[in-house]
Amino acid sequence: MNKAFKFRIYPKTEQQIVIAKTFGCARFVYNRMLADRIQHYKETGKSLNNTPAQYKKEFEWLKEVDSLALANAQLNLNKAYKNFFRDKAIGFPKFKSKKSNHRSYTTNCVNGNIKVERGYIKLPKLGVVKIKQHRDVPDEYRLKSVTISRTPTGKYYASILYEYEKHIEPVEPEIIVGLDYSMKELFVSSDGTSAEYPKYYRQSLAKLKREQKKLSNCEKGSHNRTKQRIKVAKLHEKVANQRKDFLHKSSRQITNAVDVVCIEDLNMKGMSQALNFGKSVSDNGFGLFVSMLDYKLREQGKQVVKIDKWFPSSKKCSGCGEVKDALLLSERQYHCEACGITLNRDYNASLNIRSEGIRMLLA
Ligand SMILES: [Zn+2]
Repeated sequence: MNKAFKFRIYPKTEQQIVIAKTFGCARFVYNRMLADRIQHYKETGKSLNNTPAQYKKEFEWLKEVDSLALANAQLNLNKAYKNFFRDKAIGFPKFKSKKSNHRSYTTNCVNGNIKVERGYIKLPKLGVVKIKQHRDVPDEYRLKSVTISRTPTGKYYASILYEYEKHIEPVEPEIIVGLDYSMKELFVSSDGTSAEYPKYYRQSLAKLKREQKKLSNCEKGSHNRTKQRIKVAKLHEKVANQRKDFLHKSSRQITNAVDVVCIEDLNMKGMSQALNFGKSVSDNGFGLFVSMLDYKLREQGKQVVKIDKWFPSSKKCSGCGEVKDALLLSERQYHCEACGITLNRDYNASLNIRSEGIRMLLA
């Protein structure tokens, strides 16, 4: 089993410089490898297996940073390719922008190069960095990797991944729910409930939108614009943290209450729905929610059953099994011509997801 702990770290100025350099090099290697792969494919029709080592001759400065960070940049690129080939809807790997707010690199633990000891973490090329470790890590956990990140407001974090042995007795599935993705409410459950983001979160989100609008009206290069940008970045962080807290709470509640969660393997369905509405699905947090559910359930010998994304969960009648040819996104009620029932659209879908999941469990 794997478990990640995220702790705030306090690098000194010279360490911050090394971190910034490593972000830059990891991004450079990623982009360069991607560009060369695209070019190679255009010229030969074949894929290219390039590695960071090849670039170190031409770009000597790459040797100055943690080589494992570069190796992980390659792994990330490989993963992006793999995801793309598995599901074209995910889209072709993208270049990483210098302007991106998300800055991070990952390094691995080999031969004790990384150590966490009371109040400090030892990292390759950085040395000893102060860490705020608010939770104890059990002794038998083995450190695998560390992801160093910096938020737009200048806070540094180390997300430390541990591996541990645990014998988990599988739970006999008795309580089973189906969850249907809902853009507005995160999900609607077959037990009749739905997850609603709390009011304080919606308020923060609304405030963020207002402040973003203000920012876009600020004159370029002005002092006010800089001030407003920091304000927006701080709100972004707040919203993201509130969302994460809520997703943790919600996934914990479900994990404690049920044995199996059936869910559509959907990321992409949500994405296309959101695109239809002209909104970004990333704000909804459903993907993060599913991965939280997945590991929380597995820790207890429980499971997530993923339903094929082509399964007609919305078009099918949960009462009689009749499948409609078409169902508009605007139809919030499901009305079945065959058996006459009328149900909330998402609730109907969650019931279908549940029965399909049970069918898969028994198959
Ligand atoms: Zn029906």
